Amino acid sequence: MSRFPYTFLGLAALLGLACGPGKHSVQRVSVPLRTDHSYGNAEQVRTTHLHLELAVDFNKKRLSGTATHHIEHKSTDTMMVLDSRGLVIEEVLLDDGSSANFRFGIEDTLFGTAVLIPLKPETKKVHLRYHTDSTAEALQWLSPVQTHDRQHPFLFTQSQAILARTWIPLMDRPDVRFTYSAKITCPKELLALMSAANPQQRNDSGIYHFDMPQPVSSYLMALAVGDISFKSLDSLSGVYAEPGFLDSVAWELADMPNMIKKASALYGDYPWGRYDVLVLPPSFPFGGMENPRLTFATPTIIAGDRSLTSLVAHELAHSWSGNLVTNASWNDFWLNEGFTVYFENRIVEAVYGKDFADMCAELEVGELERTLERMMREAPKDTRLALNLKGRNPDDGLTDIAYIKGFLFLKHLEQLVGRHRWDDFLKEYFRVYSFKTINTEAFKDFLHEHLFQTAKEVVYAQLKDWMYGEGLPAQAPKPASERMKQAREAALKYQTTRKPDPLMAKGWVTQQYQHFLRNMPKDISTAELDALDQSFGFSKSGNAEVLCDWFTLAARVWYRPAFAPMEAFLVRVGRRKFLKPVYEALSATPKGLELGRAIFRRAKSGYHSVSAGTIAEILGVKS
Ligand SMILES: [Zn+2]
Repeated sequence: MSRFPYTFLGLAALLGLACGPGKHSVQRVSVPLRTDHSYGNAEQVRTTHLHLELAVDFNKKRLSGTATHHIEHKSTDTMMVLDSRGLVIEEVLLDDGSSANFRFGIEDTLFGTAVLIPLKPETKKVHLRYHTDSTAEALQWLSPVQTHDRQHPFLFTQSQAILARTWIPLMDRPDVRFTYSAKITCPKELLALMSAANPQQRNDSGIYHFDMPQPVSSYLMALAVGDISFKSLDSLSGVYAEPGFLDSVAWELADMPNMIKKASALYGDYPWGRYDVLVLPPSFPFGGMENPRLTFATPTIIAGDRSLTSLVAHELAHSWSGNLVTNASWNDFWLNEGFTVYFENRIVEAVYGKDFADMCAELEVGELERTLERMMREAPKDTRLALNLKGRNPDDGLTDIAYIKGFLFLKHLEQLVGRHRWDDFLKEYFRVYSFKTINTEAFKDFLHEHLFQTAKEVVYAQLKDWMYGEGLPAQAPKPASERMKQAREAALKYQTTRKPDPLMAKGWVTQQYQHFLRNMPKDISTAELDALDQSFGFSKSGNAEVLCDWFTLAARVWYRPAFAPMEAFLVRVGRRKFLKPVYEALSATPKGLELGRAIFRRAKSGYHSVSAGTIAEILGVKS
């Protein structure tokens, strides 16, 4: 049923009569959001296929070309409303060759500008000629020195959550799925890749064609252009990276084909054809982004010991939870991420064993507890799985709640009904909701229909507490592992002896060091940190997870000898997860805040806007 506000339609029609082509810049109309985060009126008109033809200009830092929407009319309304932010739209043509008298909505700094395109009842295609501008937050243009090999520039996109609209005019809401194709023209010495069927080597024309025949949501639109090479891992998977570290990437991710087999055995065949991973330059703000067919990943997973590849398990799991079955809105983000953390944990268990999986879970639950402690004070409502992010940046929902509380909820259900029934249920869930979107309420109904067999189970499931309650229900599962126990005992022993014992850490993996560092005494001194550094060589570690915990501790205790490597780390790495705790620890004291601000001034040109924005907020400065 249409919820399109009457007043808006009337106003738009009036403006349509009142102004001619070219006057749209002065004729802005007040357009209400159709969902909590999008102007797109998919209830009236829906994109079924999108065709892009874009040229990549590194000098102007601009994408320019056309976006053609193949559309389906859902009602008799003849207005199509798209999302855009910072896009310069030059012309809109309909498929009969006529020029559409398009208008813009009033600009909103977060949601951008609605593009109102009057259609004819018979219109099947809408063709927009446009270019991006310098504010396009989805695009990160790297100069050669910001790349690994330092030879060529690099471009990558990050569309999630609502940044696709900064490089493509479209309905930027996850419940609109469409297939897409593209023709990308880039400098001849570079290779272009998308979240689609991809080339495996450079050609001489600099022109690449892409096809994504399965319907995806806008936040999964992705493009990368750079000096990129490919190495196959098996017939269905491989890795892309700059040539200078392609071999180490391939070595680190050698378990990928096995992960794909294990994942398919769990919850159904891999649904997207190929699965490849592109390892990006260090400024990529996230661990990974599950762009279909081509995960974008941070180089910080290249630890040299394959200890951080659970991140690939996570992005791979998104091929089912998120990409195949998608959250209907960003309020239901936990349906993407909680399921993915659960699925990731199952893949890790299948490949590396139960204790390793439990160890990862235990460490994450520790993180959730710390997050909850803070959030229950500052924003208790945001500790619900089903969020209300109306009018807010959906990135506010990108917390441990969606990921870890979501994971624990599913773990709780697994324990309630037993793994066998739970796995059958999940297979059914992925089958029924394939290439569809789902919200929290619908998932609750699906549980009632397909999982619970007795009234007692319904009571024990405590769905309302989990989905709509704040904090963590008392009966939440508590994962425990032998490896974590060792790390905990080592930390306890240290609290009494205050002497490092490297023998205790023999054979430890990354996560054990992390747990150890996170459980250091509150009153630890700089001399004691010095002794720890001498024994374990934390400051010189090549492992970003360990470095992050170590520098956070060093910043808190004001351990100066670690500051030079800490600054080098903060300048080199752009992954928000690693930047945030270190800058937060620094900002806890006035002198730390001063140091943090000085480092940020030097480092920020290398950060993606997603990271720069978060850090600027922590430091109370402009990004
Ligand atoms: Zn994820």
